[in-house]
Amino acid sequence: MSALAQPRPAYRLPGWLGGRAPVAPAPAVPAREQARRKLYDDVGDLLIAHELTLSDVNFAVALAHLSGDPRVTPRVEALLRERAPLSDAAFAALHDELDHAIRPEMLADVAERLTAKLEECLRIVSRSGESAKDFGAAVTHEVAGFERDPLGAFTRLLSLTRSVVDNARAMEEQLGSTRAETERLRGNLQRAQRAADRDHLTGLPNRRCFDSSLAAIHPAAAGGAVALLDIDDFKQINDRHGHEAGDRVLRFFARLLKSELGEEVVVARHGGEEFAVLFPHGDLGEARTQLDAARETLVARSLVNQATGVAFGQISFSAGIARLDGDGRKALRAADKALYQAKRDGKNRVVTPA
Ligand code: GH3
Ligand code: MG
Ligand code: MG
Repeated sequence: MSALAQPRPAYRLPGWLGGRAPVAPAPAVPAREQARRKLYDDVGDLLIAHELTLSDVNFAVALAHLSGDPRVTPRVEALLRERAPLSDAAFAALHDELDHAIRPEMLADVAERLTAKLEECLRIVSRSGESAKDFGAAVTHEVAGFERDPLGAFTRLLSLTRSVVDNARAMEEQLGSTRAETERLRGNLQRAQRAADRDHLTGLPNRRCFDSSLAAIHPAAAGGAVALLDIDDFKQINDRHGHEAGDRVLRFFARLLKSELGEEVVVARHGGEEFAVLFPHGDLGEARTQLDAARETLVARSLVNQATGVAFGQISFSAGIARLDGDGRKALRAADKALYQAKRDGKNRVVTPA
C-alpha cells in the first residue's frame, strides 16, 4: 500500500470548530434573578425564532405566554400545534386580551440580554480568526519538515488541506449565519432600546430616558433649567369626556410643548399627566419666560372633543422650574416642590423655588 493510500492521520487543528474558549466562572446570581433572566432570554429567543418584530406589544404577549397567562398561553400553544406562524398580526390580536402595559425596564432588560448574545456572536467570529492562525502555524511546521521526511510531510499536508477545506466550508456556513443573526440582533436591539426609552402614547422620551439624561449632566456644567409640569384638573377631562379623549388631550399637549419649546429643549412624559422639561442652556429667567409663553398659548386655545363636538373648556398646566447647576436630580426635586407650590397658589402658573 502506498503512503498516499494510508488512512488519514487523525490530525486536529487546535481550537478548530467547536473548540470552545474556557469560560470564566460566573459570579453567583440569586435564584429569582436567574429565573427572571432566563424568562427574558426565552422571550428574546421566541421573538427571534419566529422573526417577530421586537416591539412592546410582541414583548408583552411573549412574556405573558411564557409566564403561563391563561388569556394567552393556550392560544399561542394552539398556534404552535397547528404549526401556524406566530406573526406580528397574531400577537397584536392577542395583545388586545392583555390589559397590562409593558414596563420600559423590561424592554431595557431584553436589550441587555440581546447585547450579550451579540457579543457572543462576535466572539465566534474572532475565534475563527484564531483558528486560521493555528492553521498557518501547522502548515509552516510541516513545510519545515519537508526535507527530512518529504513523503510523510506531503501526506500530512494533504490531510491537513482536506480537513481545512471541510472545516472552512462548515465555518463559512457558521459565519454566514452568525453574520445574519448579528445583523438581525443589531436591528432588534436598536428597536428595543428605542422602545424602552419612548412613551408609547405621546412618542416623547419616557421618565426612564429623561432621568438618565439628567443623571448624565456633567457636574461642572453651568446654565440650563429643569421643569415639572402637571395638567390642571385633568381628572375632570377624563370624567367628562372619557379616557380616550383624555389620551388625545395628552397627545395634543405633548405636540404643543414640543413646538412651543423648540428642538433644543428636551420634553418628556414623566408619568400620567405630568411632563418634565430640560432646558440645556440659558438662565432660569429665560427658561421660565419660554415655559410661561407655552402656558399662555395653551390657555388661549379652545379645544373641542373631535368625537363629540363638545368643547373641553380651558386647559392649563401648573409648573415648577428650577436652575440646573450640574446636579440634575437636585434640580428636579426643587422643580417638584415648586410645582406643588404652583398648585397650592391656584394652578395655571409657573413657579420658581423661593
Ligand atoms: P391637579 O390639578 O391637582 O393636578 O388635578 P388632576 O385632576 O389633574 O390630578 P389627579 O392626580 O387627581 O388626576 C390625574 C388624572 O390623570 C388621574 C388619571 O386617571 C389620569 N391619567 C393618568 N394617566 C393617564 C393616561 O395615560 N390617559 C388618561 N386619559 N388619563 C390619565
Ligand atoms: Mg398629576
Ligand atoms: Mg394634574
